[in-house]
Amino acid sequence: MGEFELIRQYFMPLAGLRGSHSVVVGPGDDCAVQKVPSGSDLVFSIDTLVEGVHFPLNYRPDYLAWRTLAVAASDLAAMGADPACFTLALTLPEVNEPWLRDFTLGLGQAAESFGLALAGGDTTRGPLTLSVQVHGFVEQGSAICRSGARPGDLIVVSGALGDAGAALGYLESQSPTADEQFVLERYHHPEPRLTLGVALRHLATAAIDISDGLLADLNHILEASTVGASIKRARVPVSPALTRLKGNAAIDYALHSGDDYELCATIPKSSWANAPTLLKQQLTVIGVIESSPGLRLDGADVKSGSGAVGFDHFRRKA
Ligand code: ADP
Ligand code: MG
Repeated sequence: MGEFELIRQYFMPLAGLRGSHSVVVGPGDDCAVQKVPSGSDLVFSIDTLVEGVHFPLNYRPDYLAWRTLAVAASDLAAMGADPACFTLALTLPEVNEPWLRDFTLGLGQAAESFGLALAGGDTTRGPLTLSVQVHGFVEQGSAICRSGARPGDLIVVSGALGDAGAALGYLESQSPTADEQFVLERYHHPEPRLTLGVALRHLATAAIDISDGLLADLNHILEASTVGASIKRARVPVSPALTRLKGNAAIDYALHSGDDYELCATIPKSSWANAPTLLKQQLTVIGVIESSPGLRLDGADVKSGSGAVGFDHFRRKA
């Protein structure tokens, strides 16, 4: 099977999915063409996943596809963007049709679920690597940046943290328990918080998606906003499953491990007080932004730059 036949058979069918209304020219031409609604800003981001680095060797192709698109879409959620479309640069060691079938099945499910249409891509041969570029829209000037946090803002996170990080220890498990299955599912099928991100657009002063760990990612907001923060360990939301699996260590997963793709945002107190109940139910207040730089956990300084706060490809973990 040649490159073009492969693209036609497996990838073209994903072009007509929900979210494709803004794609004027999809896969098959030299470029894709996207209509940008007047009054909107185009928000875009690219993510690369390398086998053995970002996902395990011989990882299930349908899970891989979901995770890859979810990771990319999560960045749109963090900016408060409405999802529109994506391109996929795929490097494959060989043409393996059963693998491609499962991969595109998972990709189609994710694309449909997130409202992202496939607008184009690139297909090459080499070690298994995926790059996904996602496009979304916000009303002009309303993207949520990392730099907007102000002293007094409350720090909130969505969902529960640490599940996906803990799941890494169970990937090889032959007969996982119900709790292990729960955290494994959180690793295999992260849900980018797209609807929540859009709801935060006129509420949050800053936001980030938690890909490297709460402390590390919150620190990015603090640095970009030149502020500090105090957070409380006991406030950080942890799932019952993770608590049963890890006991007192559950909180360490919640603070340090990424892969959950929940959102962390800062919201002025008055806006929080007036926020819709439905929105508040999806978020937990874990602390407050302060003018004094640095991050404090239960009053003690968290050292940044020590490598202990999160994952950095060019630095070893402490
Ligand atoms: P060019 O050589 O002009 O860059 P390519 O040969 O790389 O074009 O790709 C041909 C067409 O197929 C393009 O429209 C491209 O967007 C599309 N395409 C290639 N690979 C993929 C893929 N994995 N998924 C979706 N579309 C793809
Ligand atoms: Mg060309």
